[in-house]
Amino acid sequence: MLRPIEMSHHMLAEIIKADDVVIDATMGNGWDTSFLAALTSNVYAFDIQQEALYSTKKLLQMKGLQAKLILDGHENIVKYVSEPVKAAIFNLGYLPRADKSIITRPNTTLKALEILKEKLLPQGRIMLVIYYGHEGGEEEKAAVIDWVSTLPQSDWQVMRYEPLNQIHKPPFLVCIEKI
Ligand code: SAM
Repeated sequence: MLRPIEMSHHMLAEIIKADDVVIDATMGNGWDTSFLAALTSNVYAFDIQQEALYSTKKLLQMKGLQAKLILDGHENIVKYVSEPVKAAIFNLGYLPRADKSIITRPNTTLKALEILKEKLLPQGRIMLVIYYGHEGGEEEKAAVIDWVSTLPQSDWQVMRYEPLNQIHKPPFLVCIEKI
């Protein structure tokens, strides 16, 4: 069975075509950025940590891929992306093996989602892989679930994909599609 992160890639691979504009809202070590860059030449990737840009640049070089790497928060997407967007992915939480106090936060995550809500093309998708075991994680999870739950069903499909029999707090996936 696919794990949530694998399912997010599956859901994105179904719709992304070469030249579509797509966004990795939380670049981290670049796993999602490189996945997207193998599908389209128009990937914008955001992170607030310089280390994320170094790791991602290295990974892209190793794979012979390209993406626009932006050292800024995803709440500032409009400063960098003028085109309509086909897809976006968020991995909420902190960067493994880095400073665990640098986490995604509800206000900036929701600001980015509000922007993407407008910029997303019909049949476009947003994937939210939600890690919430860390301090502040439950608060962000609640804020995101509240936000997606209010999207009108006439215009949006919202799905949740989650392990139900695991101890601890494994990540789960929320998929949003504009109808
Ligand atoms: N997708 C990444 C990968 O493939 O390695 C993992 C992402 S990690 C769970 C979350 C990342 O979000 C961290 O690298 C952190 O620096 C970044 N982040 C936190 N706040 C952010 C913001 N406002 N805008 C963009 N990135 C942010």
